[in-house]
Amino acid sequence: MKKIIDKLFCTRDADDVELKELIESSGYDNYLYEQAESIRKKYYGTDVYIRGLIEISNYCKNNCYYCGIRASNINADRYRLSKDDILSCCKSGYQLGFRTFVMQGGEDNYFTDEIICDIVSSIKSMYPDCAVTLSLGEKSYESYLAYYNAGADRYLLRHETANDDHYRKLHPENLHPENRKKCLFDLNRIGYQTGSGFMVGSPFQTTENLIEDIRFLQELQPAMIGIGPFISHKDTPFKQYTNGSLELCLKMLSILRLIFPTVLLPATTALGTISDNGRELGIKAGANVVMPNLSPVKYRKLYEIYDNKICTGEEAAECKFCLQKRMSSIGYNIVVSRGDFIKTTTTNFN
Ligand code: SF4
Repeated sequence: MKKIIDKLFCTRDADDVELKELIESSGYDNYLYEQAESIRKKYYGTDVYIRGLIEISNYCKNNCYYCGIRASNINADRYRLSKDDILSCCKSGYQLGFRTFVMQGGEDNYFTDEIICDIVSSIKSMYPDCAVTLSLGEKSYESYLAYYNAGADRYLLRHETANDDHYRKLHPENLHPENRKKCLFDLNRIGYQTGSGFMVGSPFQTTENLIEDIRFLQELQPAMIGIGPFISHKDTPFKQYTNGSLELCLKMLSILRLIFPTVLLPATTALGTISDNGRELGIKAGANVVMPNLSPVKYRKLYEIYDNKICTGEEAAECKFCLQKRMSSIGYNIVVSRGDFIKTTTTNFN
């Protein structure tokens, strides 16, 4: 197993048989984490980037089987933020040292392109030293282009699974894996720092699916990769499925760090939900980003995409200081920075 990890470290790749062996192995996890952490430190030192997450709406027209804010969930208490709400989140975030704002929401038709562009350009003119990230789902090329021209820098759209059959088991018929992938390539083409990613341990997922996810990401070459454990939600068709494991998530984070040395890799809130020190372990396994919540506290609990989501009761400042303390306890520092992707070629890593 050590040989496979060393090969990944030196060549940034391994064949499918080796990846399968590594993903399914146990006993070499610590060595894998150490190697991934050393690559992470080479490019990013002990810096941890923060992203101020603003959950703008929990309305969604879609019905992904795993998601707590899916349209059919009649138990979800719906809300959407106004432009003023969003700008006030940015104001307090800026004072706390955030230099990236992430506007995330379900696919809510209320937010027309015009509204999104207006909000993005207002944020950019008030905070020109900040990056704006959007995570608003599948849109047309023209819409993505309009947001980009309004000033959006980054776009997050997890592919969730690169395998078409698996995708169909997680989503209703009107959602198409090929469109999801097309959106991601459109975003790259426009010039966004594009983020993709997938759930770890989602229902019906196989090791082969995870390898396909890696291969898809190698083709896409995203600037960010967001992965987190599948966590079931009580009001979804997947309520009875087992959550993804911490161990597999950490292993996938380390493998991704070795294959994509400079990628922006969050230690997600979902990781902190399945284990109290999940985010610290994620950073030690190669992650370099955390995403404290800037959304107004009164709406936090309502953006419940999975059960028992953490950080729903604290003010933004508390969230940031809590993470700051957690990061310094493992020798890392939260920094005031846009935290852009370091672009490099695949041949000059060592
Ligand atoms: S995962 Fe996204 S697109 Fe799917 S139902 Fe949830 S918010 Fe909507």
